[in-house]
Amino acid sequence: MQIKLYNTLSKQIENFNALDDKDVKIYSCGPTVYNYAHIGNMRAFLFADFLQRVIRTVGGFQVKWVMNITNIDDKTIRDSRIGSQVWLPEMGNQSEDILQNLLTLTEFYEKSFIQDIAALGVNSNHFYKMPRATDYINQMQKLILKIINKRTAYISQGSIYFDLSEYRKTETYGKLFNIDFGNFIEGSRIDSDQYERENISDFVLWKSKREDEPYWDFEIDGQNYPGRPGWHIECSAMEFDILGLPFDIHTGGVDLRFPHHEDEIAQSKAGYGIEPTVFWCHNEFLEVEGEKMSKSKGNFFTLRDLIDQGFDPLDIRFSILSTHYGSIYNFTNSGIKASAKARARVQEFIYSIFDTADNSEVQPDIQKLKNDVFGALADDLHSPKALAKLFGFINEYSGKAIDELSKDSLKEFFTELNEVFNVWEISPRVEIEIKIPSKIIDIAEKRLIVRANKDFAESDNLRKILDDLGYIIKDSKDSYTIIKK
Ligand code: AMP
Ligand code: ZN
Repeated sequence: MQIKLYNTLSKQIENFNALDDKDVKIYSCGPTVYNYAHIGNMRAFLFADFLQRVIRTVGGFQVKWVMNITNIDDKTIRDSRIGSQVWLPEMGNQSEDILQNLLTLTEFYEKSFIQDIAALGVNSNHFYKMPRATDYINQMQKLILKIINKRTAYISQGSIYFDLSEYRKTETYGKLFNIDFGNFIEGSRIDSDQYERENISDFVLWKSKREDEPYWDFEIDGQNYPGRPGWHIECSAMEFDILGLPFDIHTGGVDLRFPHHEDEIAQSKAGYGIEPTVFWCHNEFLEVEGEKMSKSKGNFFTLRDLIDQGFDPLDIRFSILSTHYGSIYNFTNSGIKASAKARARVQEFIYSIFDTADNSEVQPDIQKLKNDVFGALADDLHSPKALAKLFGFINEYSGKAIDELSKDSLKEFFTELNEVFNVWEISPRVEIEIKIPSKIIDIAEKRLIVRANKDFAESDNLRKILDDLGYIIKDSKDSYTIIKK
């Protein structure tokens, strides 16, 4: 099916056409591994997962999906410093070697990140690579050298900065994000990795060595500039090295449009002469009470917090994916509970298509269902529309005697749909053998007789009695099934 995606570059929904017929290449800005990712971060990764699954399943492409791990930046350095208050006993002892401490802390959180996304239904086999920034220092230095050679970067006090004024003579800065250059002062510099739009400046590519920070040697024209990379350069270098430029799709949250992605475009264009990607796709925020969930605001939950509160990670996945990625997702416990119910309803329907029944003759139009649901997903991943179509179908056909061939097509349909959502079991219900007490069977048998006599009032009464005793009774034509609640 033809996939359409909203492209932040053109600010329009465009037809997605792959650059080559082998693989669709997708790069997602990954986590900064200085702590457990919160559920807001997870929205960005679930969006990327959903997108790459739609491209595979609905678009019919093979996908090369890369997600980087930022293991060196201001925050990872801060939290792994000798004597850090946030160093955990589980990480072992700190060493004398600052780089080793950085790697120990970040590998600890990288592992927890991989566990968390697995619990959220991301299949690790779908990743082509998850490169760590510290393994690409050499490639970053090569890119920085290229940018210097094009005279779009300069050295100042041992650090290297991107020369925005020079770049803007021939190129546009502000392709993804509306930038007001009113505050821009030519030659002003910014060293921090994250900054506000008021601070548009020459941003740092390489930060000179500081006391208590890990560093790498960097030789330029016979002189050494020991230091470490700024945050933005890693993505430009890794994309070029792993995927080649341009690749098909770049993902991230809307907060990354500026400065991270603007800087990424500038670096790649200045250094390699090519912009990174054709499609820039950004997910909106997950909010709590009207505010972006973020570590700095303190209004965050990790997946682990939510599991401790009894939530099922797949209900969280389903809930987040049920909202269109371009709309704000408002996080509430009741929202997750409602999604859990909706997910269970679909699961019940799936179980029911594995049941055999006599006189099954209803023939739903499954091709239409498929076109409706996958058509909505192909249309800029419109999951709310897709699910509305799905629930419309389930409401119409649940409890009906669907014919066996149609059930086979439905099994195929749900298998494919689950390649995208990955929250259901496409198999018969696994019944746990439980002994139904004879008293319950007696009531059920009595009810079978009153039903045959069309005494529906008494039948309902007996159903209620069973329900109060903890059993649900489901009717079929001349029989029943008893389920323990
Ligand atoms: P970070 O680990 O801070 O680099 O962020 C990882 C990803 O999470 C980025 O793509 C961010 O844009 C995204 N992100 C951060 N906070 C939120 C949020 N509240 N809702 C949605 N995405 C977010
Ligand atoms: Zn990035």
